[in-house]
Amino acid sequence: MTQNDTDGQAAAPDAEDEWQLYATAGYAAAENPWDDLVAVNEKPEEAEEWFDGDDFEVEGATIDWDSPPCPAPLGIAHMIRIGACDTCLHRVGGRRTDEVGAAGGALLRASAFARDKELESFTPPDLCPLCEDLFSDVDNIVERIVEQTGELDHGSLQIGIHVPKDLLAEEDRIRTRHGAGGSRPFKAAFTSAIKAGVAERMDGVSFVKERPDLMILIDCLTLRVNVDIRPVFIYGRYRKLGRGIPQTRWPCRACRGRATGCEACEETGLQYPDSVQDLIGETFRDALSADDTSFHGMGREDIDVRCLGRGRPFVLEIKRPRIRRVDLEKIMHAVNTSAADKIEISDLRWTNRSEVSRIKETRAEKSYTIRFTLENPPDEKQIIAAINSLSGVTLEQQTPKRVSHRRADKKRRRKVVSIDRIELFDKEIQFSVRCEAGTYVKELVHSDEGRTVPSIASVLEQDCQVLWLDVEDIHAD
Ligand SMILES: [Zn+2]
Ligand SMILES: [Zn+2]
Repeated sequence: MTQNDTDGQAAAPDAEDEWQLYATAGYAAAENPWDDLVAVNEKPEEAEEWFDGDDFEVEGATIDWDSPPCPAPLGIAHMIRIGACDTCLHRVGGRRTDEVGAAGGALLRASAFARDKELESFTPPDLCPLCEDLFSDVDNIVERIVEQTGELDHGSLQIGIHVPKDLLAEEDRIRTRHGAGGSRPFKAAFTSAIKAGVAERMDGVSFVKERPDLMILIDCLTLRVNVDIRPVFIYGRYRKLGRGIPQTRWPCRACRGRATGCEACEETGLQYPDSVQDLIGETFRDALSADDTSFHGMGREDIDVRCLGRGRPFVLEIKRPRIRRVDLEKIMHAVNTSAADKIEISDLRWTNRSEVSRIKETRAEKSYTIRFTLENPPDEKQIIAAINSLSGVTLEQQTPKRVSHRRADKKRRRKVVSIDRIELFDKEIQFSVRCEAGTYVKELVHSDEGRTVPSIASVLEQDCQVLWLDVEDIHAD
């Protein structure tokens, strides 16, 4: 660590300022209304130290920091002297008024002026020290929210507010010392004011504390409003009817997906023109007017392997959808028509992010049909007996050579649950096998040069060439 440590420290993000705190904005624990009461047997301190260097002079008159807290008239007068805006005056004044918000504060101010003429002629500081005049920006912020969400389909909003830490600290200090007990803290009151403004402008809007359709982030320093359109998730199963289709989009190896000017991919940026992800996802992306998709499958088959039977469970994540409410049945038919003979989807339903991890973590048994050739087939009985001898066996599989560049080299034990439907066609042999999750099935046949033990090749004592493989079922869901 010879680098400039001081710089490093200065550059470190301030945890309190992080955007993730937005999620909790407006949901601070309720204030305890008894906080400001002094216990009966507690001795009042004689020379209480009020002045800690923060007293200031306004128009030549020293502010009386020693005033009692609101709702005492002197407390309210104090708030007016230090420049509280009407909204904050109402918020910390602790008095019931006929009006709420700024209008309620104006009433408190008027009655304080009536009590004390001098107070009226007093010129307070420009900025409200409790909110730095942010309450006067509420309409402006609401306008921006309405503008930026107007074109978007949504059922729920979450509001997150980023308030500078020093403003919060100063507000808390003034409120707890001079405000009425139980006064609402700034952040909660400010969030409520914005919500009320938005609700007035948008019919039937609902605010939530988690999983919103739109996350609205407001930066109080810049008054910038950022709308984060949360993704939607759809569960389904796909059958892959053709070979040569990868599950997810593969960028072109020659241009690494840049596309422009690449002859290898004819400027598509793709190594394979089709993928299960895009055959499904592009139709959804169009229908939901979204930016992009992510595809989460319950495992994956090789490019040249079909996936039949009930199909493979997946979750499609659709990013930044401008439209969220669509007829899944209709889109399913559109996918199945446009991708006919390549893939087919079924069992669609709406879901959420938590199902992505379930899909990824499920370790399901799978059934396959596999076809291979033998150079010198022995007689039928021998072949069938040899293949059947692997039913119920536990294989030892060293990581196959074909995947060793991306998987750790280690030995796994995987069970062959059952074998059936052995069929012979001259030199071609076909059988079905059900095995434990994570079994390398091609290797079960050809042995991967002895890395899988035992194997069809070892029990038949000759080379076996795999012709094709189909996933027949994924025993899950
Ligand atoms: Zn204020
Ligand atoms: Zn390319």
